[in-house]
Formats: sequence, structure tokens, C-alpha cells
Amino acid sequence: MNCRNCESNLDLVLVDLGFSPPSNAYLSHADLSKAEVWFPLKVLVCQKCWLVQTLDFHAESDVFTESYAYFSSTSTSWVEHSRIFAEESIEELGLGANSFVIEVASNDGYLLQHFKENGIPHLGIEPTKSTAQAAISKGIETITEFLNPQLAQKVIGIYKKADLVIGNNVFAHVPDIRGFSDSLALLMSEKGTLVLEFPHLLKLLEENSFDTIYHEHFSYLSLHSCSDILSRSGLKVWKVEELATHGGSLRIYASHNASTVKVDISVEKLLKTEKAFGITSTAAYLGLTDAAGRTRDQVLDFLVSCRAEGKKVAAYGAAAKGNTLLNFAGVKSNLIQMVCDSAPSKQGNYLPGSHIPIVDLQTLREFSPDVVIILPWNLSKEILALLRATLGEDPKIVKFSPVLQEL
Ligand SMILES: [Zn+2]
Repeated sequence: MNCRNCESNLDLVLVDLGFSPPSNAYLSHADLSKAEVWFPLKVLVCQKCWLVQTLDFHAESDVFTESYAYFSSTSTSWVEHSRIFAEESIEELGLGANSFVIEVASNDGYLLQHFKENGIPHLGIEPTKSTAQAAISKGIETITEFLNPQLAQKVIGIYKKADLVIGNNVFAHVPDIRGFSDSLALLMSEKGTLVLEFPHLLKLLEENSFDTIYHEHFSYLSLHSCSDILSRSGLKVWKVEELATHGGSLRIYASHNASTVKVDISVEKLLKTEKAFGITSTAAYLGLTDAAGRTRDQVLDFLVSCRAEGKKVAAYGAAAKGNTLLNFAGVKSNLIQMVCDSAPSKQGNYLPGSHIPIVDLQTLREFSPDVVIILPWNLSKEILALLRATLGEDPKIVKFSPVLQEL
């Protein structure tokens, strides 16, 4: 396979997590008696542009299906994060009634609603019908299609080029990252700003958080690789911020090369940090396979001893992260009896691969678990408070990643 960015041959493996179904392919009760498709989950490193990427195996339409169940607005901390971002960018970029904001992968309108409230013209581009429909019902204009250069041309023909183009947690999720980057550049006005947020590869490598790897997540980006990709579309990064979201993310600001915007010191600083860690050298990529194996063994030991002691074990958060770890470790419903999730769209369904039933909070309370595992560890503070308020002080509450830890 060749690099999706620079087309060099890929022969360095970061980690091979075996096979698993797409992390968001939740199953109905009827699906349990049908065949389930498992795809290889292997991650490769380009030793030329240092883009870390999943092995090619299928089209994106297989992964982002109609029933895609992730609704951004179900996470309260994420909605708050988005509100702050919207207010800051309105002020910093001086956006008003004559401006135009486009968000790519606008989901259920969790972010654009804040631009709408401020009277700023906006457009969402969201390929998943179920989430796009939720945005449209909030009065947020949304195009239900995948972004590619053809669609970008169509959009700027019908509307106009945007002063601000936002892509939060989408850049890493597109297989054709080059075409996507070209599309973003097309959508931006001459002085327009692009803001992208994506999980930072440096954190994944530092913390061995291999469970942030899943099929929907095609690229694992650093400032180095992101800058390389954008530069091929005529864009330059001029500011970068490090965020705590998703276990450690970057928010980058970019403009067209011709723009006179001053490059902030944060860019050079982070490029140096990444280089010092070894982002641009092979050695930094050699330890993750062993680390993933150690976490798997630890998780299995813990769950098997819980079962031997007759403990009732539940999990919280039917997130993609959890699925990678559960399927890599081969955990099924004999080790974790149920997983509770606040999203009604997931309740009554089953996790892909492990087939653990997804229940509501009332069912979890009635089950009265001895142990609860928080699967989306990046939200563990918010979830821990909810679990203690619901279940009291008795159950042991743990998270599995990056290492097994009691909370
Ligand atoms: Zn490359």
C-alpha cells in the first residue's frame, strides 16, 4: 500500500490489532443472528511524510452508514467546548451578518447552532442522514453529502466562499485526505480561515492509547503530517493550540499561502516538540504493539478474576474507543454483562463484535453492579460524577486505558 498523502511505499507497522467490525456498527437484536463483517485493523507509518494511517480495505460508505449513531449533542462537555470555540472565533475573526461559516461533518448542529444564535450565515455539510436530519430540524441549513472537490465547487457556486471553514474531528476520519484537503481549500475565501481539530498522534504514542485506533479513524495526525498535507493544497498553518479533548487534540488554524497572516510562535514550538519526541524517526513507532498486548492481558486478568469472584460487571459508554479494546481482547457478554449509554439511539442495541447489550441508566441501576468500567476514558470525570450520583459509593469504578486504574 502507498501513503494516502505522499504516495510513498508503506512498510512500517505501528500496530496490528487483528480484525474487528467497524466501531460504530451497532447491532439490533435481529442482527445478532446474521453474519457480521470484521475488517483488518492495522496501522502503518509513512517514513517520508510521517502520516500514520490505517491499512486500505474498504470504502468509507461501508463505515458511515445511515444508522450512524454518534450524536455530538449527547456529550454535554463537547457541546460546551463547541460553544466556547464558536464565541471565541466570532470575536477573533470579527464575524457578523455578512460573513459565511461552513462546517464540514456538522453532525447534529452541535456547533453551528451557536453561529445561528449570533445571526451569522452558515452551512453544514454532513453525509450521515440521521444526524443531518437532527440539524435540519433545529433550523440549520445542511447538505447531506460527503465533501469532495466536486461538491466544494457546487457549494461555492450556490452560496459563496467562506470566511471560516471548520472541520472538527473529521480530518482524521476521511480516507481520501488529499482530496478532502483540496476541497477545504476550495471552500475558503482569499482571506478565509480553516480550523481543524483532530487527536494528536503525539499523545497516542506518549500514552500508548491504542484504543483510539478504529476503522472510522483513517489517519493519526501530527502537526508535521498535517502541515505537509495542507501545503499540498496551497495552505499554510499559522497557529496551533493543544486541547485536552479526546485524550489530547490539536486545533490548527490555516490560510491560503498568499495570505499575509503572521505565523504564530506556537507552530515552530510544537514542530520542535514533535521532533524531539521522534515523530520524524522510526524508533518512536516501535513500542505500541507491546504496550497494546500488555493492556489486553491486564484487562482480561481483571475481568476473569471478577467473574471468578462472582461479581456483577457493567460498563459505561458505548463508544468507539471501548469497542477497539473489547474486540482486541476478545471480551464478550460473559465478562461484561451490559453497557449503559445515555444516547437513546444506541439503547436496546448491541456493541459490534462483543455483542454486549446497551441499556439505559434505569436498567444499570436495577442491575446494581459491583464493578463499572468507564470505556470512554477521555470523559471519565463527567461519567464518574454521574455514576456516583446514580449508583452511590458502593460499586468499584475503573477505567481500562491507558492502564487499568480504579477511580
Ligand atoms: Zn507519506
